[in-house]
Amino acid sequence: MTTTHAGILAAGVGSRLGNLTSDTPKCLVKVAGKPILQHQLEAFANADVDDVTIIGGYRSSDIADWLSANPQFRARLVTNEDYEFTNNMYSALLLRPYLGGHSFILCNGDVVFGSGIAQLIASGSKDAIAVDVGSFDEESMKVTTDDAGHIVTISKETPPDQALGRSLDLYRFGRDSGDHFFDECERIIADGLRNQWTEVALQSCFDRGLIKPRPIDSRDEQWVEIDTEDDLLHADRVFSRFDISDYDQFFIDLDGTLTLDGHLLPGAAALFSQLRSEGSSIFVVSNNSSRGSADYRDRLARLGIEVGLDEIVLSTDGLAAYLRGRGVHEVYVLGTEAMRRHLERLDIRHTTDHPAYVVVGYDTELTYQKLADACIWINHGVPYVASHPDLTCPTGRGPIPDIGSITALLEITTGVAPSKVFGKPNASTLGHLIEDPSRAVMIGDRLYTDKALADDCGIDFVCTLSGETTRNDIESLSVDDWPTLVIPSLESLLR
Ligand SMILES: [Mg+2]
Repeated sequence: MTTTHAGILAAGVGSRLGNLTSDTPKCLVKVAGKPILQHQLEAFANADVDDVTIIGGYRSSDIADWLSANPQFRARLVTNEDYEFTNNMYSALLLRPYLGGHSFILCNGDVVFGSGIAQLIASGSKDAIAVDVGSFDEESMKVTTDDAGHIVTISKETPPDQALGRSLDLYRFGRDSGDHFFDECERIIADGLRNQWTEVALQSCFDRGLIKPRPIDSRDEQWVEIDTEDDLLHADRVFSRFDISDYDQFFIDLDGTLTLDGHLLPGAAALFSQLRSEGSSIFVVSNNSSRGSADYRDRLARLGIEVGLDEIVLSTDGLAAYLRGRGVHEVYVLGTEAMRRHLERLDIRHTTDHPAYVVVGYDTELTYQKLADACIWINHGVPYVASHPDLTCPTGRGPIPDIGSITALLEITTGVAPSKVFGKPNASTLGHLIEDPSRAVMIGDRLYTDKALADDCGIDFVCTLSGETTRNDIESLSVDDWPTLVIPSLESLLR
């Protein structure tokens, strides 16, 4: 006998996820590109559980919209209008008209699980609870069993030496047991206790010998309960198919990925040692045209990372090659002294006398005079190019102007846009360095430069949240645009 009915309790606000649930119900927050609800419905479909009832509450109409937009998932939606003043026991009772008289599966709407667990819980029709045997944490519901192997307690308070493991809050009820459970929910609510957890009704059924579930050992299965943003990041990792040993060429962004405000970010040095010891090739890729390759090599060496000059890829390099290809060697450089020196080594000299181009960089030594001079040449019809497109530069105290802010100023003043913008995401930045796109990966903190570059080059992309991009930004991406992996910092890539 198998169980083909299921109820999902997804009425709560999920306030511990902060901004992520300010305009989205928790069950539609994404893990590895897909809403939690989609993971659950796919897992159930793979286990032939085909009669699913969802109890929505907070932003229930968003769930209705999502179901309409995804008709491949057939599920019934019922709304708990009192979600603000009740808890999931009240929601569970709303399932009775649909699940009563059947054996059924019950789960919370904030647990991501794979098809393996769904198949385990669906293959049978007697009382059972999925348990991560041997695992423990303070936050979770833990279960204990009696000598006969039946679960007799479910509680957060159970000490580690007594707990069999953590409950996934994924239950199977036999037909009669389901009715006992609903009766118990009804009785407790009739007593005026509307704001209780399902576990209270369950424990009461255990105490009265009405339900005797057996544990389903789920320790080898993938599951994550989502309460906080850390849980989400952990779940992203568990449910993405990223394996660092699949790659041997690593293109790593600098600002916001390796360093921030001149300091190494967590895991940066250790990741370099790890990749070097495995014989992988590493390139440090930066759009920051305020410095030259040698400056970066020296700065990184002072921070404890040894990088060769040929392992540093700067946006200025492609720009210089472009100008040389057009026979241009004399330009007006709106950039730092270091950029002027770097370009000079690449055979492009700064001049204030009839330059062939205006070249704009990330000028941390910007003056009004430089801006005025550049505008005057542009007003005279001299074409201008920019070393990269970044609008802002990430710092620990928020964004500060980068080159994009400077070119915006030039454009507003002259009405002329740069004729070409180099650096990330322009595929020419890396294209010539990639040996095998299937074994190369870009790691960066920006979607519109780092990810766009990876996409243009046809390589995988790991997004670190240590710089500009937030988990909230990622949330708006479709599954096709989702990064191969999302990590809090490079530390997550260490073995
Ligand atoms: Mg960056």
